[in-house]
Amino acid sequence: MLAEFGVRCWASPAAPGVAPAAEALAGVAPASRAPGAPGAVARQTHGAPASEVVAPPAAARRTPLPRVTPAPRGAGIGADATTVPVAASRADDPVSGERARRIASLDWTALRAEVEACTACGLCRTRRQTVFGVGHPEARWMVVGEAPGEQEDRQGEPFVGAAGQLLDAMLRALRLTRATDGDAPPAQRVYIANTLKCRPPGNRNPAPDELLRCEPFLQRQIDLVRPDIILAMGRFAVQALLRSSEPIGRLRGRVHAYQGVPLVVTYHPAYLLRNLPDKAKAWDDLCLAAEVAEAAAAGRAPGAG
Ligand code: SF4
Repeated sequence: MLAEFGVRCWASPAAPGVAPAAEALAGVAPASRAPGAPGAVARQTHGAPASEVVAPPAAARRTPLPRVTPAPRGAGIGADATTVPVAASRADDPVSGERARRIASLDWTALRAEVEACTACGLCRTRRQTVFGVGHPEARWMVVGEAPGEQEDRQGEPFVGAAGQLLDAMLRALRLTRATDGDAPPAQRVYIANTLKCRPPGNRNPAPDELLRCEPFLQRQIDLVRPDIILAMGRFAVQALLRSSEPIGRLRGRVHAYQGVPLVVTYHPAYLLRNLPDKAKAWDDLCLAAEVAEAAAAGRAPGAG
């Protein structure tokens, strides 16, 4: 990539699966792992000469990787909450009430239909269409963004337009894909969803009540995918998943957890397009997420995928 991304990562030799930046980005050497191995990151040609690339050395970047054991795939999301407290249940509570409990039992088909028909907040009146999510249902990576913008509202897919292209370039650098076809193994698949499924008019910030009412959909998506790693991109995704109003700059660089799933915080690609120097930090965050995914893959029983 990162002719556009313009960054590279000094990955630690002790971080298997994350290609050293000069090779990952300039891409002249073969992959150190067999292609397709879980967590493997190929050394690709991205067309960017090494001299274009800038980033802090791994030694300065890394905090020790905490041991976060992902919950088993298929485990109920409410069963092992570690970060988000389960609110005392009230029938009309958007997150834990009757509607939320019903959503928590839906399969993919029913969940998509429920989102398409949703009128739980006022955004249903201004949306062109809902933006459900995209990617392989058994992806090991999950990217959570904020709210659909104009292009997403038109196309019905999250992360399209310039921000989406940047995200795809970032994922490609780690040999990940949102595509649902092809023969990529689950370890290289990404499922992408937004915190909010309908576009706020004029791209205004989501209102707290809108985020709460929409949250059961994202919770169910995470529960169905049960990824090894969640990459939370942008302030509202972080607020919704971590219940934290701390700035992203204070939350990034370490591993959090959402319902037992390791979670790494980073900047939204739309922000990165406006703040080019922070691309180096975002790339650093992706390297951290790759380490976590690698550790999860290594801890999984052979043949478990
Ligand atoms: S934003 Fe979410 S809660 Fe609001 S109408 Fe759309 S799908 Fe329903």
